[in-house]
Amino acid sequence: MSRYIFVTGGVVSSLGKGVSAASLGALLQSRGYSVHVRKFDPYLNVDPGTMSPLQHGEVYVTNDGFETDLDLGYYERFLGVHLSRNDSCSGGRIYWEVLNAERRGDYLGATVQMIPHVSNKIKEHISIPTNTDFVICEIGGTVGDIEQKIFLESIRQYANDVGRRNVMFVHLALAPYLEQSGELKTKPTQMSVRRLLENGIQADMLFVRSPRMLTNEERAKIGMFCNLPAKNVITSINVDNIYKIPLVYDEQDVFNIMAQHFGLPEAAGDMSKFKKIEHYLNNDLPTCTIGVVGKYFDVADAYKSLNEALFHAAVQNNVHLKIKKIDAEKFTPEECSDVDGILIPGGFGARGVEGKISAVKYARENNVPFMGICLGMQTAVIEFMRNVVGDENANSTEFAKNCTPVINIMNDCDSENMGGTLRLGAYPCVIKSGTLAEQIYGTTNISERHRHRYEVDIKYKDELEKNGMIISGMSPDGKLPEIVEIPSHKFFIAGQFHPEFQSNPYDGHPMFNAFVSAAKRK
Ligand code: GLN
Repeated sequence: MSRYIFVTGGVVSSLGKGVSAASLGALLQSRGYSVHVRKFDPYLNVDPGTMSPLQHGEVYVTNDGFETDLDLGYYERFLGVHLSRNDSCSGGRIYWEVLNAERRGDYLGATVQMIPHVSNKIKEHISIPTNTDFVICEIGGTVGDIEQKIFLESIRQYANDVGRRNVMFVHLALAPYLEQSGELKTKPTQMSVRRLLENGIQADMLFVRSPRMLTNEERAKIGMFCNLPAKNVITSINVDNIYKIPLVYDEQDVFNIMAQHFGLPEAAGDMSKFKKIEHYLNNDLPTCTIGVVGKYFDVADAYKSLNEALFHAAVQNNVHLKIKKIDAEKFTPEECSDVDGILIPGGFGARGVEGKISAVKYARENNVPFMGICLGMQTAVIEFMRNVVGDENANSTEFAKNCTPVINIMNDCDSENMGGTLRLGAYPCVIKSGTLAEQIYGTTNISERHRHRYEVDIKYKDELEKNGMIISGMSPDGKLPEIVEIPSHKFFIAGQFHPEFQSNPYDGHPMFNAFVSAAKRK
């Protein structure tokens, strides 16, 4: 049976619960334990796929095509685990399943109630087998939220069901610093732990987010109010880069606190991969500037995985990264004059598309390293059709009705769910040998994740290739172009998929690594 660690948060949202949970996983892995992660979000949306990135940050896509919250991205990147639709579960989905069961008559006439029917459904999701030593479950929201209550009740019951020593409750709270009095205040943390207790949950370890390290007196004081030894009160200090957090926790003996709780031997771990990143961050290195021509810049997390993948590639290439955000709607070529590479990310809707097409033109004509992702590949093909092949009417049917439809709807996925016509999740791609794509990936068979509706229409292949843009990656049935490139250009490649979802801080991702390397050479 797996042991469980439940991570909750209190006082305010956005304290970095996801990163803390992922860091716990990293500490366990560094001692040789296998780890799985699961996220529960109390809100009532059935899944995050239809939530606006303007509110919720990017929509992350798993291999099995589930549209999830971006926290799953942290977990996959940090821990190298593969998550699926079993690992992202919202309140809406729980209620949906309970009410459907009620309509089917599954409850045989019983009165359907929050306890036990909803709580049992939550516990059913918690206990989907994973075959790992540990399962870390993050409970979204903030202690005290109405929607969250039933989730707290369910994890309380779960600990009672499987045995208190098989479950650890970790709580993340805040100690604000009051500048006027020069004091770090511990009361919000105390209150938050008390709210957990009202729900029958005694925290076993606290992460206290704070701008400076807590003193031993402060730890003892918090511990006294919260029924914990001082050593179980950990400072979650503000850092400039999330990959420092596992080291921050390791230095405070967090693994051994977990080991003691679960009755496992204490152990030292191999943290070298995090130390390597820390070393990179502290090093004086040249800076490489990547211009990202996009339109969702108002939201900090809308390009989360993309920014991460660029950072990972910078680590691999030993350069510091500067991302220049270029607003596609106001694009002028001058804005690209100081960038070392141009990247066009994914996007939906006509707003900003013409600016993106102009950015492709600039990159192509000036031999600036170029990488396109999803809509970025579609705009690259449109630009090439217009300005090289010479069909100025070329466009995507997403943006224009009467056009040369070089980008069009080709697939016939079923549309059972809203947004169901999207091609979602991992698909295989066959790479043509002798191409840049093959050189980058070092293989001719790859799998990448998708989230889009439109495709490059294969019937334009000959016209494109005759003029110098080749299709170097294709779906195995030969129907859907997956990668295009321009061999005469210094570095010009674009994929229909989202490689950023498979990048990680330790190795990066081949396509991003090669792109940043080309930008570095420039
Ligand atoms: N809007 C485009 C499509 O649906 C591209 C989507 C994307 O970039 N993710 O195909």
